[in-house]
Amino acid sequence: MADLNKEHYEVTIMGSGPAGLTAGIYTARADLQPVIFEGPEPGGQLTTTTDVENYPGFAEGIMGPDLMNECREQAERFGAETHMALIDEADLSERPFDLKLEDGTAFQTDSLIVASGARARLLGLENESRLMGHGVSTCATCDGYFFRDQELAVVGGGDSAMEEATFLTKFASKVTVIHRRDELRASEIMAQRAFDNPKVEFLWSHEVVDVIGEPEDGVEKLKVINNKTEEVRDFPVDGLFIAIGHIPNTEVFEGQLEMDDDGYIITEPDSSHTSIPGVFATGDVQDKTYRQAVTAAGSGCKGAIDAERFLEEQAV
Ligand code: NAP
Repeated sequence: MADLNKEHYEVTIMGSGPAGLTAGIYTARADLQPVIFEGPEPGGQLTTTTDVENYPGFAEGIMGPDLMNECREQAERFGAETHMALIDEADLSERPFDLKLEDGTAFQTDSLIVASGARARLLGLENESRLMGHGVSTCATCDGYFFRDQELAVVGGGDSAMEEATFLTKFASKVTVIHRRDELRASEIMAQRAFDNPKVEFLWSHEVVDVIGEPEDGVEKLKVINNKTEEVRDFPVDGLFIAIGHIPNTEVFEGQLEMDDDGYIITEPDSSHTSIPGVFATGDVQDKTYRQAVTAAGSGCKGAIDAERFLEEQAV
């Protein structure tokens, strides 16, 4: 069983990416003694990337895992309690809310800041995971810079794929969008932008079935299948970006918090308030537009301030 300091917290934070840890820093500094549950990927998606060069304050860049370690230590310095555990049951029907960890440990909380993030949908190939951060990426904004004058592939046919492909042409010499159908899902304007870009090419009705390379040397080539003719062939590239959508980690709140059709938690405009008073959503669980570490951190700060104000109002 998890060794919790208390059975009843004022603030519980679910998730330990930039949103969760920033919420932890703020609520700890407000003396609310928050507890942070780190979830299945402590540090969040940033721990799956290498250099982070666009997070302000680090002129020379910083490694994703190092940045998240610093944030965790910062939250702990002010009294945040952290646990490598996963909240897998939540009863939000009345306050205090009842929460349960994977190992069965039950506790209560007066407020809950949901910062459990979203996970990139992956193709499910063994080598895709092995080469993640070593030529395979799920974030062009994060990793595009490392592929100057190289040839890249982007998998997907939605707005994200169009956006990533277009963005990557700032660095790459050529970007091929590999899409499983012969028709895009992307909006017309995003598709047109990609069609108009001379560095973007399309490989229609193809799927990536393997990624060949070694972590030390990066990606060497893909194996792709034409799903109309079933012909498999090699497709040489220096990097592969997966842009086939994201899955918000909100399953535990299904049927309780208001969500959109894709499972993202709906928050009130300009705040982190959800459909249940006392529950706040921050970072990627409620953001399918920006998804950056710095926007998640900002959102976590909002969640902390909203939770603090909520608790003050409850106390009067
Ligand atoms: P999406 O719209 O769900 O598109 C996912 C794409 O990946 C689809 O083309 C899908 O193919 C393909 N795909 C899914 N699973 C696959 C698999 N296993 N193998 C190969 N291909 C696969 O996701 P998204 O592009 O991330 O967009 C999500 C939402 O964010 C959308 O509402 C979008 O409009 C919005 N968004 C907006 C902007 C913007 O306006 N700037 C930018 C990014 C995202 P099929 O088409 O065959 O299903």
